[in-house]
Amino acid sequence: MGLMLQLVETGADTRGRGTDVMEISRPRDLRDIANLGLTLLEAKQLLARVQQAFVAVQVRDHAALRPECSGCGASCHVKDWQSRQVATLFGTVAVRLPRFRCPGCGRSEAGVSWPAHCRSTPALDQLQAHLSALMAYRVAAGVLARLLPVAAGTSHETLRGRTPKIGEQLRHVATAMPEPTPTAAASPSAITLSLDSTFIRSCHEGERHLEVRVGNAEMPEGGSRQVFGAVANAGTDIVALIRRTLDALGRTGDTALTAFTDGCSGLRAILAAAGVTGPPSLDWFHLAMRLQHAKQVAEALPADDPNQQQAKAEIVADVERLRWRTWNGKAKDAQVTLKRLRTLLPTFKGKPIRKLKRAMRAVDRYLRSQSAWLINYAERWRAGLRVGTSLTEGTANFLVNKRMAKSQQTRWSRRGADLLLQVRCAVYNGALGSGFGQLFEPAPSSGLHWAEAA
Ligand SMILES: [Zn+2]
Repeated sequence: MGLMLQLVETGADTRGRGTDVMEISRPRDLRDIANLGLTLLEAKQLLARVQQAFVAVQVRDHAALRPECSGCGASCHVKDWQSRQVATLFGTVAVRLPRFRCPGCGRSEAGVSWPAHCRSTPALDQLQAHLSALMAYRVAAGVLARLLPVAAGTSHETLRGRTPKIGEQLRHVATAMPEPTPTAAASPSAITLSLDSTFIRSCHEGERHLEVRVGNAEMPEGGSRQVFGAVANAGTDIVALIRRTLDALGRTGDTALTAFTDGCSGLRAILAAAGVTGPPSLDWFHLAMRLQHAKQVAEALPADDPNQQQAKAEIVADVERLRWRTWNGKAKDAQVTLKRLRTLLPTFKGKPIRKLKRAMRAVDRYLRSQSAWLINYAERWRAGLRVGTSLTEGTANFLVNKRMAKSQQTRWSRRGADLLLQVRCAVYNGALGSGFGQLFEPAPSSGLHWAEAA
């Protein structure tokens, strides 16, 4: 069975002119389900040929336009023709357009509104950047080539080269945008802001890791959530990014800002510079993580004799009590628990107890150094407020770890990592669209969807 695909141009003067695009032959026999419909290869061919036929018509019409001379205003004549190869989502197309000269003053003019150095369409650039944000360049190039008839620009080297350029555009727009348009319908009464840092492997000489700062801002009334991130000292101004994120959420002078961060004073300074006036609270997540570790170590203690059994039970209960106290804003009493714990330790010997001591010292040090930032987490929780956010950790995971983390074995340059991060943030925020950096209302679940996909 064969079918001819024909494109027929519509429009008053050209109606009825048809172009044969492709003949498709497929078996009639459907006993083999594989015969049903088009194959991927045919679909790719079809897309490529439709694209070529389509572009041919567009180019024909565009070439008929005659620009006016920018010097004297006369109508220009064709000087010569120039051919360009442009990579599109559906294959590389040849675009042959005239260049012009003014018959009056001899000035040369390019075509009508045709970009001078265009090698690819924005749609292809965007999809490449989008995929590169989610997976390794090599994998992204493979996915594109498998699904689409993209001939040129599918090598991972191309993606590696192009994606940072888009990150550069995003970075520029993100930090320089003068008057961001609030995406929120109404300005929120409160915004919760989190800032965290994580590390990726560095490719720079004499430097093992790069510090990456990531965070998110969200409205408690269940509205938008925006993420942001920047590699430290890579040229992206994180303070400007945060301000811009708050503006995007519609922050006004009346919006109450609550910030969470971990123990690092650098991050606190960033928040202060971004206009968070109240002191940030210590994120419960960071505390809970350390306490959880201590609990696990306690639970792994040996219980070989009744003495140990009893001491172990007391230690486990004490660690749990410590967690309860911290949660309830009674961290001062935590010192009491820690002292009591130390008296129980001599019941054990060797490695397990050394491990527990280490875990307890870590909790102790952390509580002491963070005492100024501890709050009554239970109270906030009961009031339906955030106690910090495992979300930030989730943000870090999505933005950095899944694509860029240590396990990926990739070593990153400061600039390369920062620019890729800008693309990843834009993907998450739903801001990677036509006219890069322009902020779009993110699709309701787009962030989560991509988070899973990554
Ligand atoms: Zn002229």
